Amino acid sequence: MADQFDVIVIGAGPGGYVCAIRAAQLGMKVACVEKRATLGGTCLNVGCIPSKALLQSSENYHELLHGFARHGVSAENVSFDLGKMMGHKDEVVGANTKGVEFLFKKNKVTWLKGAASFKSANTIVVDGKEYGARHIVIATGSESVPLPGVEVDETQIVTSTGAIALESVPKHLVVIGGGYIGLELGSVWRRLGAEVTVVEFLDRLVPTMDGEVATAFQKTLGKLGMKFKLGTKVTGAAKTAKGVTLTLEPAKGGAAETLEADVVLVAIGRRAHTEGLGLDAVGVATDERGRVKTNGHYTTSVPGIYAIGDVIAGPMLAHKAEEEGVALAELLAGQAGHVNYGAIPGVVYTWPEVASVGKTEEELKAEGVAYKVGKFPFTANGRARAMGDTDGFVKLLSDKTTDKLLGAHIIGPDAGTIIAELVLAIEFGASAEDVARTSHAHPSLNEAVKEAALAVDGRALHI
Ligand SMILES: Cc1cc2nc3c(=O)[nH]c(=O)nc-3n(C[C@H](O)[C@H](O)[C@H](O)COP(=O)(O)OP(=O)(O)OC[C@H]3O[C@@H](n4cnc5c(N)ncnc54)[C@H](O)[C@@H]3O)c2cc1C
Repeated sequence: MADQFDVIVIGAGPGGYVCAIRAAQLGMKVACVEKRATLGGTCLNVGCIPSKALLQSSENYHELLHGFARHGVSAENVSFDLGKMMGHKDEVVGANTKGVEFLFKKNKVTWLKGAASFKSANTIVVDGKEYGARHIVIATGSESVPLPGVEVDETQIVTSTGAIALESVPKHLVVIGGGYIGLELGSVWRRLGAEVTVVEFLDRLVPTMDGEVATAFQKTLGKLGMKFKLGTKVTGAAKTAKGVTLTLEPAKGGAAETLEADVVLVAIGRRAHTEGLGLDAVGVATDERGRVKTNGHYTTSVPGIYAIGDVIAGPMLAHKAEEEGVALAELLAGQAGHVNYGAIPGVVYTWPEVASVGKTEEELKAEGVAYKVGKFPFTANGRARAMGDTDGFVKLLSDKTTDKLLGAHIIGPDAGTIIAELVLAIEFGASAEDVARTSHAHPSLNEAVKEAALAVDGRALHI
């Protein structure tokens, strides 16, 4: 007889481990299967957390070299120790993954170590042993999309996993893909001294971002010294004694050229990871992009089997996976779990940061929605001036008739933190006027939000 649980979650990333903890909080007997040696999934082990540790370390070095002088602070013989930087990153990862292990113990979630595959709709097999549950949740996440002709070895041609563990600073790093992962990791290595070229198929960076913000973003990355080859596709990679020779072609067709690199980062996107689960055997349907199909309540085509996080449709973000984990656990407990997909923020942790929530101007135009725009630059914000970080602006979009906030887009210092009040505003259905009438501490970066909200109605005070 297989060990029985109320819920078995497959995968202990932010979607899976949060779902397991919430289900346990709600009184269910829960197990979570994870094939990695540590908990926390892509996010804690090789994604959000290690990349942010390296972004912080490299930013500290870059600021000491280029930013402190304007504050009258000088330093000589500035250097960095890459080994220590990587050590710090590993410590941070260790503390976070052990933290999840502690939370599992605290909440009495059983960690089943190994890879799970389905035997039936209510039974899985892990390491040759069967386990049964009334509800089984697929939270197996995602993996890097491979690029034909560019074979990853994780040393010279790397995915993000190799790019957060390079042993030395490459002389020339070529990043294939102008999405947020490539730009964040590209900026890490640029700050540490690498020449960085980003090759992007489209004629702009981060295609889902508001166009005006994307243009400003490219400019700030250009100031950092990053180079861009937009509208260009990579058709092949050949390893040489010195590095890698890439073959490029204009996306629209034309003459081929070559580009030499020491290290190539393939960051063209991520795809759902379902390998080895045996979905076909139990009849769980997937869509044209290999994602598990679910209805509004995260139920797959097979009753009793559910899916959340990167493995289903929607933005591949840790907090989106977490929200789904909580919502599903609450639905399984008979509660009204719900995720508001219109209020999921997206942040790029470069410096300045880029953050957005809700609709972009391009989306509103395409949907034929009449809107108003309010903008305020950080050059006119006292706190940003004091910091010496005045690049960027806040841009708010509200409904032309009702003034309801429809979208918020920020490029600027700490944009990822500033955006939180606008996520809350959109969650509560606030208008631009509501934000404009809210007292904001002075002098704070968030005053730029209030001013942008005033600007929606043409009455910004400080510009
Ligand atoms: C470099 C990088 C930086 C990122 N930065 C950010 C960021 O700043 N902010 C953000 O919101 N998102 C970021 N992300 C995305 C984020 O990591 C994902 O959206 C998030 O991890 C998805 O969570 P998940 O639970 O769906 O899946 P995952 O975190 O991918 O976890 C799935 C887990 O399932 C396990 N698994 C798979 N199959 C099986 C099986 N058959 N049996 C047992 N276990 C299995 C895997 O080993 C894995 O641990 C980043 C990603 C990368 C790669």
